[in-house]
Amino acid sequence: MTSIPGNLQAVRERIARAAVACGRHPDAIRLLAVSKTWPADRVAEAADAGQRAFGENYAQEGADKVDALAERALEWHFIGPLQSNKTRLVASRFAWVHSVDRLKIAQRLSEQRDPQLPALNLCLQVNVSGEHSKSGVAPDDVPALAEAVRALPGVRLRGLMCIPEPTGDEALLRERFATLRRLLDALNERGLALDTLSMGMSHDIEPAIAEGATIVRVGTAIFGDRTRSASPDA
Ligand SMILES: *Cc1c(COP(=O)(O)O)cnc(C)c1O
Repeated sequence: MTSIPGNLQAVRERIARAAVACGRHPDAIRLLAVSKTWPADRVAEAADAGQRAFGENYAQEGADKVDALAERALEWHFIGPLQSNKTRLVASRFAWVHSVDRLKIAQRLSEQRDPQLPALNLCLQVNVSGEHSKSGVAPDDVPALAEAVRALPGVRLRGLMCIPEPTGDEALLRERFATLRRLLDALNERGLALDTLSMGMSHDIEPAIAEGATIVRVGTAIFGDRTRSASPDA
């Protein structure tokens, strides 16, 4: 039986150790608990253990959990592929979207965001693995997309996100994360004032933090193996 409070504590300790090992303050890294496929009661258990930010990949599943847990002051991040017909659902329920890879999606999120709500925080998902991966904007196209997204009124561009292709090559993985950090640095040199690098998952928190991650997205190490989550819509 998975102990969510115990797992959360272990992940927080990994984050702190990784931060200290590279001379960073542990508070500079936020933990996003990725609760996709897990029912709302598991999210509630993590919330009871002090976790506040949760990540979801599927719009309808995520929206249902946001609504089910509405009385708790949780912060919801959308991190999955986003289609045009789901932007309204996401714009109304989430505080962040990490997976923006084209202008049209950002425009729709901006238009559909309720002006009464704070601007929706966005990250651009970047393809740092070249031909090995299909999702994300190509590194060369990041500056133009960032400038266009920055001009939209309903959203606030916060930074960049990546999901490197799986590899057993530690040095290559570090290089993928470093690519994202250099892209962020280049945008900030152009005056964009971005503060977020969303990178690192259960198996690669440490190299991501060493390369500057400010949000790590962790599912399995907190909630357990997703193949055992018995999701109704998997
Ligand atoms: C599922 C998922 C995660 C979490 O992955 P784990 O390996 O379970 O920690 C992080 N980011 C994205 C975009 C995901 O889809």
